[in-house]
Amino acid sequence: MGDPLNEQDLAAQALALVNQAAGPYLDSLPERLVRDATADPLIDELGGPLPEQGAGALAAIEELLAVGTQASVHSSGPRFFHLVVGGATPAAMAGDWATALLDQNAGLWVTSPLASRLETVVLGWLKDLFGLPQDFGGVLTPSATFANLTGLAAARYWWADRHGVDVVADGLVGLPQMPVLTSGYVHASTRKALQLLGCGRDTLRTFVRDDAGRIDPAALERALIELDGAPAVIVGNLGEVNAGDSDPIDELADLAEQYRAWLHVDGAFGLFAAISPRTAHLARGVERADSITADGHKWLNVPQESGFSFVKDSSILGKTFGGWGAAYLPTLDDEQISYNMHGPESSRRARAFPIWATLRAYGRAGHREMVERHLDVAAHLGRIVDGAPDFELLAPVQLCVTCFRYRPPGVPEPDLDALNARLGAAILEDGRVYVGTTTYRGVTALRPTFVNWRITEPEADLLVQVIREIGPQL
Ligand SMILES: *Cc1c(COP(=O)(O)O)cnc(C)c1O
Repeated sequence: MGDPLNEQDLAAQALALVNQAAGPYLDSLPERLVRDATADPLIDELGGPLPEQGAGALAAIEELLAVGTQASVHSSGPRFFHLVVGGATPAAMAGDWATALLDQNAGLWVTSPLASRLETVVLGWLKDLFGLPQDFGGVLTPSATFANLTGLAAARYWWADRHGVDVVADGLVGLPQMPVLTSGYVHASTRKALQLLGCGRDTLRTFVRDDAGRIDPAALERALIELDGAPAVIVGNLGEVNAGDSDPIDELADLAEQYRAWLHVDGAFGLFAAISPRTAHLARGVERADSITADGHKWLNVPQESGFSFVKDSSILGKTFGGWGAAYLPTLDDEQISYNMHGPESSRRARAFPIWATLRAYGRAGHREMVERHLDVAAHLGRIVDGAPDFELLAPVQLCVTCFRYRPPGVPEPDLDALNARLGAAILEDGRVYVGTTTYRGVTALRPTFVNWRITEPEADLLVQVIREIGPQL
């Protein structure tokens, strides 16, 4: 024990332990509680001081599995509707295991031509899936937050260049504030990206015409006119997290074209609207954007961490992130691509493998079917809610989110926010289903989101049943 060199023969056995746990764990997901708080004390068993003498690989993995299979939030099961969290398709999950097995460093071509080539392949497949031109550049990222950072870093490069400044070499000093214009649908991660880029989290300007945050395009256009030709960035939001609504991307693309602004579109989950003819109109115009964000670990159902950034000008990522100036690193190369020159990371895992696996396994049709099933589940819940005397639908269902509140007859309006907040907390404590609350148009609302491949209509029915069981006791 103690030294991995003594355990060379145990690696496959340690992996076999994970494999043995997989069957029972995955089989249990449809039935078990999403979260069983009584398992929390088990987590203490994994704490304590750093061991001086190790327990060995098999013991360590056994401990991790024993606690992990109990104390996890079982969000990869079919009853997790909180936030926007996907599951992992069978192929994607196995692809992720293969990623760990092969342990490629996908930062440089030289450390893994395989990972680099497959990154190019999956970026091409994803562009095809979303109807984006093949000559767009792109890079895989750990998340949509990182994809927003990537796309907005490219925007910042372009914007500074329009001012005659190389922001990569010289920074922001001497430049004005970068104007970033958007709607009230903007996600917090866009603000975070601006914060990290030195552009300032609170410099973002929102143009809204109602309390949901819907865009006021005329006001946004007036702001562009006032800028009088100075370069600006417009952020379009394709899929807003409270109710699933979107900005009119085509209209924003028109404005960007007319005023020569950069259009960045955050389609973390909303970009998947493009893959079904039923919702493709919501994404119309996205192919005209300068940079686009989407997530793999949401609606593609690839394990955490998976995101993608696409940019129209395929040379701009290299200009923004390449040129590290380290003597031991290669230079930009169009054939043998080192993807760490196209994004913010250096060493990185072969994020392409699970994406490749799920797209190879289920193809365009399989992923379209999954998306459409979720559209159906959200609409099904929307119909139940709309027709029920004890519920109120708060927004039309357009994608995978159903935004509503519990409104039993006889409860006065001023008490409804507190009731729904208590309900949200009680649902999480119950654990059979998982759903979050939000403030939407000034009221406390539930916003179940359906993006996990395992979710079907009966799971949405269970949510209704749980609310009607718990609600009257509150
Ligand atoms: C989830 C989400 C993000 C952030 O995604 P992460 O993958 O959690 O970083 C950004 N924008 C939108 C619209 C989202 O739904």
